[in-house]
Parts: sequence; C-alpha cells; structure tokens
Amino acid sequence: MIKVEHLTKYYGDFLAVDDLSFTIEEGHVYGFLGPNGAGKSTTMNILTGCLSATSGRVEIGGHDIFEEPGEAKHLIGYLPEQPPLYLSETPEEYLRFVGEAKGLRGGELTAQIEAVMEQVKIESVRHRRISALSKGYRQRVGIAQALLGDPKVIILDEPTVGLDPIQIIEIRDLIRQLGQEHTVIFSSHILSEVQAICDKILIIAHGKLVAFDDADNLEQSLTGSAELRFTTDAAPDRVREILGGVDGLGEIRLESQPDGTVSGQCHAAGEDLRQVSRAIFFAFAGAGEALLELSLSRASLEDIFLELTEDVAPAQPEKHKLFSKRKKPEIT
Ligand code: ADP
Ligand code: MG
Repeated sequence: MIKVEHLTKYYGDFLAVDDLSFTIEEGHVYGFLGPNGAGKSTTMNILTGCLSATSGRVEIGGHDIFEEPGEAKHLIGYLPEQPPLYLSETPEEYLRFVGEAKGLRGGELTAQIEAVMEQVKIESVRHRRISALSKGYRQRVGIAQALLGDPKVIILDEPTVGLDPIQIIEIRDLIRQLGQEHTVIFSSHILSEVQAICDKILIIAHGKLVAFDDADNLEQSLTGSAELRFTTDAAPDRVREILGGVDGLGEIRLESQPDGTVSGQCHAAGEDLRQVSRAIFFAFAGAGEALLELSLSRASLEDIFLELTEDVAPAQPEKHKLFSKRKKPEIT
C-alpha cells in the first residue's frame, strides 16, 4: 500500500530523516514509535505530501507522492500534529469545508459528513463552535476530517498528546475501531500506547528506522535478554575463567566487596534464560567455588526501546550499555 525507499530529509544541514525504507501493507494498524525529535512528524508530513523530501521515494497505492500527488493523496486521510482547525466554525461547517476541498459535493458530501460524525461520536456537538470544545472533542473533529473521502489509509500524528486519561482511552478505542476498515498509521512516543493499539511497530530514532516487526515478535525477539547479577567467594580472575566457558554472556563487570566477596554483572542472552542460570550454577560448582547469589532480571520492552533509541544517538559519548550485545531485529 505504501512503499518508502531511502527517504531522506535535511532541514538546512540538519539530517532529520536518514535513509528510511519500509513497506506498509493493507489491513494493519501500524505504530510509529520514537522519542520526541525522532523524525516522526517529518516522515508523516512527507508521506502525506505536505512536505518535500531531500531524496528518496514514496509510493502510495502505486502512485508516487511527488509525481502524482493528486492520486496519491486521495488514498490518505491525515491528522497532523497540529490540526488546522478553524476555531470559529462548528464541526459541521468545518467538515463541509474540508469535504469540499477533497472534491465531495451535494448529497454525497452530506452523507459522508453524517457518517464520519457518527463514527467519531461528535453528533452532539455538531453545532458548537470548535473553540468551545474540549481537546478530546477537537481531536475527534480532526479525525473526522481525515476520514472524509473514505481514504484507504489513515495517518494520525500523536493523536493522544495533550488529552486527559479518559480522552486517551476513547481515542485509542477509536483508532482500534478505524483499524477494522482502514490501514492506520499513528505515531506516539509512548511505548505502552503503541503496544496496546498496534499489530505492527516501527521504531524510529534520530531519523533512522531501528526496528520494524509484528508487535508480538518484537517483544519476543527483543526480550530474550536479561541482566545477570551474582556474588561469589571466587577471586576476579577465577570468576572470569569459570564464566569463560558459559555461552550467551556479554562483557562481565566485577567489583570486589569490602567483605571479601566479589559481585558481578553481565548481560545474558538466549532462547531459554533459565538455561543460562543453570550453566552458571554448574560452572561455579564444577570449579569448586561458591556462588552466593544469582539473579536474572529480564529486559522489559521499555528498557529495549530506551536502548534502541539511545543506541543511534549521533556523537554521544560512549555510555555503558546493558544490552549492547543483543542482536537487533531485521529491518525490512
Ligand atoms: P518528531 O515528530 O519525532 O518529534 P520531528 O519530525 O518533528 O520529530 O523533528 C525531527 C527533527 O527535525 C527534530 O530535531 C526537529 O527539531 C527538527 N525539525 C523539525 N522541523 C523542522 C524545521 N521546519 N526546521 C528545522 N528543523 C526541524
Ligand atoms: Mg512530532
């Protein structure tokens, strides 16, 4: 449905979108996840034909967004980060204006306005000025205008930002519902929100795509790692020797404690993390050394999101990274 190839955008000499390539297929809800400044809005503005790219290609339903913008834009409904609402108008007047701009007329326009107002549940405020509406209702009006013209793809840029918790739940439900009839791409900087709504997740950081997978796969493939902590009587050199024979361990950091014990920390990865624990236990036992404590704490998707998005930080001082040995998911 949407094909993005080597998309790059410079603002002056600042690289905001860095060689993005991905394909969006019909019938899914895609979460475009990344911290503030990652390049989400820039990418969405380019996909929807609102902003030019420095280089690269975007194809919507077979139409190049730069060469055939009319045909391409026809397939997309867009709610930008700052929706251009006319505050002095009522939702109904505003939708009529947007519908006409999208080429709808007469009975068809009226029917579609009624349908989208019902879909996003704004009939009760149809005659109120937009300036008098809550942020939640304004966001619904914004979504309603994106739905006019029945586009195949709905793109929503951070639709829940600035809403209160109840409004957030309502908008999330609405997005799920839209996903039954449209392909939806929505952006967020909140991992839990993307996990709750999407079946496909793209993670973007510093303009680069750092992960793209099914939500379930991403969680599974990324959380097969853990932080291992242990305490032993063995001397540091001896610990390194013992653990040298255990598979799946990252760099080992050791610290001698005042009580004569040695505490250690390292990253563990593997299909079965319990197996790593067993291997460590038997390695110490086999060497005749006492293992006083051993704990494994599994990396949460939150940790991984933080690490993935920090990892590509440009020109940052090298920081200690807990999960740096983990294999990154394939980028398609
Ligand atoms: P996101 O939506 O993920 O928060 P944006 O796409 O808005 O990120 O911005 C990506 C980067 O590009 C940010 O560092 C932002 O400051 C910069 N940026 C965005 N718009 C402009 C602009 N018009 N001119 C210069 N820099 C911009
Ligand atoms: Mg943004």
